[in-house]
Amino acid sequence: MRKETISVHSGSYHDAATRGVNTPIFTSSSYEYLDREECPYPRYFNTPNQEAVVRKLCALEGAEDGVLFSSGMAALSTTILAFVGAGDHVVLMDALYGGTHAFATDAFDRLGITYSFVATDAEAIAQAVTPATRLIVIESPTNPLLEIIDIHRVADIAQAHGIVTIIDNTFATPVNQTPLALGIDIVVHSGTKYLGGHSDLSCGVAVASYEHAEKIRAMAKHLGGNLNATTCYLLERSLKTLVLRVERQSANALRIAQFLSNQSAVQQVYYPGLESSTGHRLAAAQMTGCGGILSFELDAMQQQPETFLRQLKLIRPAVSLGGVETIICAPHATSHAKMSAEERRRVGISDALLRLSIGIEHADDLIADLAQALNG
Ligand SMILES: *Cc1c(COP(=O)(O)O)cnc(C)c1O
Repeated sequence: MRKETISVHSGSYHDAATRGVNTPIFTSSSYEYLDREECPYPRYFNTPNQEAVVRKLCALEGAEDGVLFSSGMAALSTTILAFVGAGDHVVLMDALYGGTHAFATDAFDRLGITYSFVATDAEAIAQAVTPATRLIVIESPTNPLLEIIDIHRVADIAQAHGIVTIIDNTFATPVNQTPLALGIDIVVHSGTKYLGGHSDLSCGVAVASYEHAEKIRAMAKHLGGNLNATTCYLLERSLKTLVLRVERQSANALRIAQFLSNQSAVQQVYYPGLESSTGHRLAAAQMTGCGGILSFELDAMQQQPETFLRQLKLIRPAVSLGGVETIICAPHATSHAKMSAEERRRVGISDALLRLSIGIEHADDLIADLAQALNG
């Protein structure tokens, strides 16, 4: 089946009692145990609503098994801890989501785990690998500059050394990129973003082979970041429109990136869908669409970013991303506010940088709003 069909049908629970077409919400946290091998329990990650969502996401990502979490960070931290301990070394990308970056720098030292942060470049990862390396953690496209890494090359490097690989696939979604097919071991998402897609829930997921998923589930039972049945149901409902949403968001983002590229008040646009972008060739090879996030820099001589933000009428300045509504933020004041100004300069995040999370509105309405704010 194709992704459009999978997103609607896979994993649905067929209720024999009512023959309803939707998965019922099973709120029990207590289940009878006699005459059954495995008893459901929320923190065992095996209730009917958890399983319905996991089966749909596994089908979309081409995975055997997975674990559903209460946030993206629960998924990332649990998955990382399932594969490393004292004495092990981890290679991570410098441009990883801020929360993942902070988890490594805050927790690894105390746990006796050593680590190297490297650029968004497969060869930099190869050079950082040591005999103690057990895990490589990557993300593509990155936040907020939309850098692209050669996923297949990273998988090859890791396989040659028997190293487990994790990719944060939040920005791409399974609609635009399926990293397991490129040789990556584990795909993790912040489902709070595109999978949920309506800016109204928090969740995360890790999908992989049976063997890797079992290791993640074992650690997850200790740490306990499970998702409740009602939110599982909301997520299952959201996933039915994932392909429609992300395809529209990707098409809108490309049109808006092209529009912004032609504005004199815009100095630079970061979007891998633009042929002029550094990551374009890699993105074209490993993605089917470039997603709904793009960033741009205003020419501060012509317009102050804050003035621009306040002139927007439809697009609201807000944090997070991936919802049906278009929002905008200044990373220096939001996602990267905890970094020092010097550190931000080093990773290329200026005070004039703005990040758009494009929604499913009509592109013409979004362009009209951007145009009136640029000219205002
Ligand atoms: C938001 C985000 C996370 C963290 O997810 P939460 O659901 O907020 O815990 C991880 N990775 C990426 C790329 C994100 O955008």
